[in-house]
Parts: sequence; C-alpha cells; structure tokens
Amino acid sequence: MQTVSCPSCGAPVDFRSHASVMAVCVYCRASVIKDADAVKDLGKISAVLEDFSPLQIGTAGTFGGRGFTVVGRIQLRYDQGLWNEWYLLFDDGSSAWLGDSSGLFTITTAQDIGPPLPDFHELVPGQSYQIGSENYTASEKREAQCIGGEGELPFRVGDGWTIRVVDFRRANLFLTLDYTDGAVPVVYRGQAVLLPELRCQLLRDEDQIKTSTGKYRARVEALDCPSCGGAIKYVPGMTANLVCPSCATQLDASGPEATVLAAGETVERMVNTLALGATAMIAGSSHTVIGAMVRTDEEGTEWTEYLVYSARAGFFWLVETDEGWFRASVLPSWPEPAAPGAHSVRVDNHAYTKLYDYTATVRYAAGAFNWRVAVGDEVRVSEFESGQATLAAELTEHELTWSRSTTVAFDQIKTWFGADVKGTGPAAVKAPSSLLGGQMKFVWWILGLNAIPILFAFGETFLMTVAALVALFYPASYFQGSDNE
Ligand SMILES: [Zn+2]
Ligand SMILES: [Zn+2]
Repeated sequence: MQTVSCPSCGAPVDFRSHASVMAVCVYCRASVIKDADAVKDLGKISAVLEDFSPLQIGTAGTFGGRGFTVVGRIQLRYDQGLWNEWYLLFDDGSSAWLGDSSGLFTITTAQDIGPPLPDFHELVPGQSYQIGSENYTASEKREAQCIGGEGELPFRVGDGWTIRVVDFRRANLFLTLDYTDGAVPVVYRGQAVLLPELRCQLLRDEDQIKTSTGKYRARVEALDCPSCGGAIKYVPGMTANLVCPSCATQLDASGPEATVLAAGETVERMVNTLALGATAMIAGSSHTVIGAMVRTDEEGTEWTEYLVYSARAGFFWLVETDEGWFRASVLPSWPEPAAPGAHSVRVDNHAYTKLYDYTATVRYAAGAFNWRVAVGDEVRVSEFESGQATLAAELTEHELTWSRSTTVAFDQIKTWFGADVKGTGPAAVKAPSSLLGGQMKFVWWILGLNAIPILFAFGETFLMTVAALVALFYPASYFQGSDNE
C-alpha cells in the first residue's frame, strides 16, 4: 500500500492497488492522481448517491478461490436507472470489476483479446458475434454518465464522464465491450454471479442501508406521487421506475426524491383481477403485486401482466390472458443459441421449438417496475415451446432478454391471493369450457423485467435464500399461442 498526502487538504490517501491511478480523498472529495512521482489534484468528484447496494468500500469476499477487497467504485446513470461498478483488488494483486445493477451481479476482468473486434455502431442486441474464439449474443447496448465515485480506481474518471458499452451473454458467461476510449473496445470478460456465492464480509445490513437512505432495501414501501399525492408502492433500489396508478405520471425513484419524468395523461383506470398491492403467501413468503400493465399484439389480443415481488424470492410475473394464467421469470442462464431468430434453442438440456414472433405494445401501465415502461412501448417477442413450458425472447433496439413461463391454474391464483382476487377472471370461465370442448387454445404471455433485478434478501435471510435466488432479472416477455386439438 502506498499512502500520499491529499494535495487539496493534506489528509492521507491510500493506494492499495499498484494498478490504481486515481483515488478520491475521503475528506475533501478531491480526485488525487498518482502520476509518476507527482501527486495532482484534478478537482472534486461528486459523492456517490446513497443507494441500496449491500456492498461498500472494504467489503471482502472470495471468487474463484481467491480473496478480494472492494477498494473503489464508480456510479453510473443511464435511462433505466443507476448501477455501480465496484473495483476489486485480489490478494494476489490482480483486479476485477463487480457490476451491481439493482441486484444483477457480474464479475469481469479486462482481457487482452485481439482484433478483429466489432465496431460499436454495427452491434445490434439479439445478434451473435465472435469475440476472440467464442461466440456471444449481444444483450444490451447503452451509454451512461458517471455521476460519482469513491475509493481508488484504475483510470481517471470525473463527473459527466460518458461511457459507451455493449454487454454480451452466452449461457452464464458475461462479456462487456467498452468503447468509452475510442473505436477499439476494452474487453471485460466474466460471468453473472449471485452475491451469496462470493461469501462477502462487511456487507451493509438492512439497518445500515436504512440509515443512509431512509428506507429499507428489499421491502415494499410507499411514496407520495409528487404530482397528485396518491400513494405508490414500490421497492426502493429495485423498482425505480414508477407510473402513478392515480394520475399516470411517470416517475424516477432512483434518487433520494422521486422525480417526474413525464406528466400523466388522463387515463381510464385499469380494472385488474389483481389490484396493485394485492398480497399472497407463496412458498412461505409474502408476495405483493407492485406493477401491472396491459399489452396487446398486432391482432388486438389483450392481456395483463402483473409484477409480483417478494423480499425473499425476488420478482416474477403473473400473466392473465383470455385463456388462462401463466407464471414467468427471467432466465438466469441464457439459452443456446440465444438468437430470437433461431428455429430451436436449448436451455437446461431441454430443446424448445420456435412457435412464432409478434410485436407486443404497452396499452396501460401502473405501479412500480424495474425498467422504464411507457404506454406505446413496443417489443418484438419470439416464443419457443417445450411441453408445458415456454421461453420468450423480448427484443428492443437496446436490449434482449429471455424469460420462461409455465401455466398456473386460476384456482391457484385464488388460493394465493384470496379476497384480493376481483371477479372470476376470464380464465375461470373460458379455460375449462374450451378444454372440455376439445380445443385448448393457449395464449400465454410473459413479460419481462428489464436489465436488472434480482432480488436478494439481505441480512439474516441472506444465506437461506441463496438456493432460491435464481433472480438475475432481465426483461423478457412471452406470448404464446398454440392450438392443441
Ligand atoms: Zn483531501
Ligand atoms: Zn399521481
């Protein structure tokens, strides 16, 4: 470790990693550059926004049999919300990045993968690319701004620094091409991880998060709509994108105060079988309906998707169609191939055959979501079938996500939600008669979560939930229709 004096305030500033070129003074927030023999003050960098991450500078853990310590962090904002890149220093002196995007964790290291590497502008989510000797599917393309930093970092960074990155997936592998410094990208290669696998020490617990943010992570809380004063239930740090159920104002709740993104238009109140706030005990833990949206396809077929949240088990979707109910979750490990245009894909040793493609359009949305949803949003959906299960790829210009859905009996919905179920639901009437009629027409839709959420319950329940946490949440949506005579 090397300790220098802050050129601005004189306080000691530590450089634990030889690879670090910059550190942020804990006392005055000066960016201190360790440049050859000189130490320079490059001006102040903003404090990171207090968020709900359980990680902090000083958190220690293990990955790949090696111990690491979190020594730095940059915080980035893009149009779907915030994420953190934590800089890890391993005991052997090497370093890595721990990406922390509302509960989706990835560990990557810079790799020396030579040309040819694709040009930023030619990359399209959903397409397959060879990078080095391996094939990957582009999953997300985005630009983001650095809004804060702390600790030590391997490059110079300041407020307003803009990054351009494209993420790729193959099964559980994760790769990022970083075009921030120019046309030739830096390659970061690694994998998606579940936080419990890292066996971290010195994580922030629920009380520490509550102290810094005023709210608990992973618990459903309510805030008042800044536009109309109505209550909106959401999950701090997990579902930053809100649509007021009363006035349809679109809100961003990723910061300390909810900010208005777009004023609501006068909308009819959506009549739902499951109301926002409906609760259920499912597999021993409390679940709450926090978001709902109605989508349609090109033919005008309409269905409703409910985002269901549990602090212990994370998110899933319940999808209500004219023909029945379905339960959908994002896939933690991607199919191979992961291209929506494939005729068949495999995941967990099951082959899924292509059913069809269609465009799904949001007609109505209310409540809390883990991606930014707006009326009129369109996604291209490709569905694949294997027995009673369906996979859906949901593709936009910026992102591809995969999810899996299975059928749920309406009686099960009633058992779960009890008195919170309004009406008999179309599924209760139609599905049995069509079954008896010998014609069973499934139309299922699943919907997805955006690039993020996985839900980790923190604190004591943490380890208990590890096995259940398949929660790497990505957007995904499904629709499927098939005629079974
Ligand atoms: Zn200082
Ligand atoms: Zn409102």
